[in-house]
Amino acid sequence: MKKLVSVTLVLCMMLSLAACGSSSNVEGTAKKGVLVMATNAEFPPYEYHEGDDIVGIDAEIAAAIAQRLGCELKIEDIAFDSIIPAVVSGKADIGLAGMTVTEDRKKSVDFSDSYASSSQVVIVKEDSGITGLGDLGADSVVGVQTGTTGDIYCSDDDSIGTVERYNKGMEAVQALTQGKLDAVVIDSEPAKVFVSENPGLVILDESYTDEQYAAAIRKDNAALLNNVNQALAELKADGTLDAIVAKYISAE
Ligand code: GLN
Repeated sequence: MKKLVSVTLVLCMMLSLAACGSSSNVEGTAKKGVLVMATNAEFPPYEYHEGDDIVGIDAEIAAAIAQRLGCELKIEDIAFDSIIPAVVSGKADIGLAGMTVTEDRKKSVDFSDSYASSSQVVIVKEDSGITGLGDLGADSVVGVQTGTTGDIYCSDDDSIGTVERYNKGMEAVQALTQGKLDAVVIDSEPAKVFVSENPGLVILDESYTDEQYAAAIRKDNAALLNNVNQALAELKADGTLDAIVAKYISAE
């Protein structure tokens, strides 16, 4: 009987470690029962600072996933282009950062099922005369956040003159208001927040790309990937995901 209890206990511990994703931590700093999320909290309404807290859609989705996995959630706020390396090295269990699924990123990490659709949009000054992407000519200077899909796509776009990279999307938007840029390419929801906070800017109707957001997970961690997908399916089915989104994004 005793043996059965201890076998059951060990099994439970193994399951909970797999659930929290830290069992495969290469540095041997297994954080039992903790789900470490890497993000870049400069991306409202998905993740941003509110006083000492990091709040937003991704923070709440991660908390709901961690709760279902029986883990405590720890959020690490790092540069956006450090998130995938943190997941690959095992410093973080998941990357949740309004991160777009791309074929290139799939070479480094696995992605969970998608939990949101998005697009890259173009922000310009109200009086710029720019009405469509075609107006961004060879002399144009476009601001992006370093390492984001906005950066990747604009850098590959021959019709854009120069791409200026910023650590935070908000810094790019400020540079636009100061007349240093012709446009900013950034995700649609942060764009709406930044435009509402900076008078004199508009978002062009025509979007640049359509994208899907998902959680990045280390490639050899199939147990965590399955658990996260199952938790996401539950959050979608029981209305939790919609309720979290509705709390941060008002219906139009
Ligand atoms: N969706 C964009 C990307 O994945 C931007 C994400 C972000 O800035 N947090 O590259």
